[in-house]
Amino acid sequence: MAKRDYYDVLGVGKNASPEELKSAYRKLAVKYHPDKNPNNKTAEDKFKEASEAYGILSDKSKKENYDNFGHAAFENGGGGQGGFGGFSGADFSDIFEDFFGEFGGGRRSSRGRNSSNRGSDLRYDLSISLEEAFSGKKQNIQFSTSEKCTTCKGNGSKPGTSPDRCTYCGGNGRVRSNQGFFTVQQTCPQCAGSGEEITNPCSDCNGQGNSQITKKISVTIPKGVDDGTRIRLAGKGEAGTRGGATGDLYLFINIKTHNLFKRSDVNLFFEFPISIADAALGTTIEIPTIDGKKAKIKIPDGTQDGKQFRLKGKGMPFMRRGDFGDLYVQVKTEVPVFLNKEQKELLERFRKIENEKSNPSIKKFFQKARDFWKS
Ligand SMILES: [Zn+2]
Ligand SMILES: [Zn+2]
Repeated sequence: MAKRDYYDVLGVGKNASPEELKSAYRKLAVKYHPDKNPNNKTAEDKFKEASEAYGILSDKSKKENYDNFGHAAFENGGGGQGGFGGFSGADFSDIFEDFFGEFGGGRRSSRGRNSSNRGSDLRYDLSISLEEAFSGKKQNIQFSTSEKCTTCKGNGSKPGTSPDRCTYCGGNGRVRSNQGFFTVQQTCPQCAGSGEEITNPCSDCNGQGNSQITKKISVTIPKGVDDGTRIRLAGKGEAGTRGGATGDLYLFINIKTHNLFKRSDVNLFFEFPISIADAALGTTIEIPTIDGKKAKIKIPDGTQDGKQFRLKGKGMPFMRRGDFGDLYVQVKTEVPVFLNKEQKELLERFRKIENEKSNPSIKKFFQKARDFWKS
């Protein structure tokens, strides 16, 4: 099974505070606790997954490693951090104390030993501009990951030798330990669940099977990506261990705020100010479009504030389709300020010769007011 991003597991953002992490984990732990879900494998897995995520993210230095290296930081062979068995080192006692009353103590079912592990999925956050989302782009990215050692083909033993049974777990791959109220089965820290001990380590990878590398790849950002779009690059994640498949790389797209266009799905919006003279007399104006070009809009005479115009096909492209959304622009009439003498005189003249027909809303309002005063 693919290893999910720890932040996704807890359903929190990357900048979640320790309190937010704790509360998110607590909710999941209460929901999926094995004592509440007897014989429910899915709940058990979710519980384990959430506990592991919290174990890492609640620990400052582990969190830092995870943020930098992803799951690779804790896999055997990843970044030299040593094996991590899900629960080891994490302090869950305060959390379980909080709701200990809800359970009668812990019990965890055992799980067969892992013979091979799929490599971890990696997450890469990429910020692009709205223009780049419009036209799509090729982007070079660089990240830290692990690659299968070519000398030993990933098994960690010097070519021609084979591993012995692990002395720590007796070849079982898992060991029991007490964590507060719980007796937990955890992955053997010595052999990381393989049940084997490498007696003649491969000299190129020091018996790790994988080596940590900085990988550079070129990725294609498709036209029309939206903020939050997740792009899966199959097989671009961490190398698996003991013959396991390679994980995937997930690109998380973030689109920077544009100072003119606002986006909603495939449509774009902006407000544009016009003078009261242009609104009253009508005009043609040029407005910018996301493709970097200009479009003309005919403003008819008597255009009211808030009037919206739709420019068909001038929005964002639909992903993997040939067509486009629309651009909506909204008129905002600007009442002039800092009038000079001549402008004031002209407006004074205009006020004197203004007739009721030119301002039907004003006429309507005062008719209603007069009716109100009479009754
Ligand atoms: Zn090797
Ligand atoms: Zn072992």
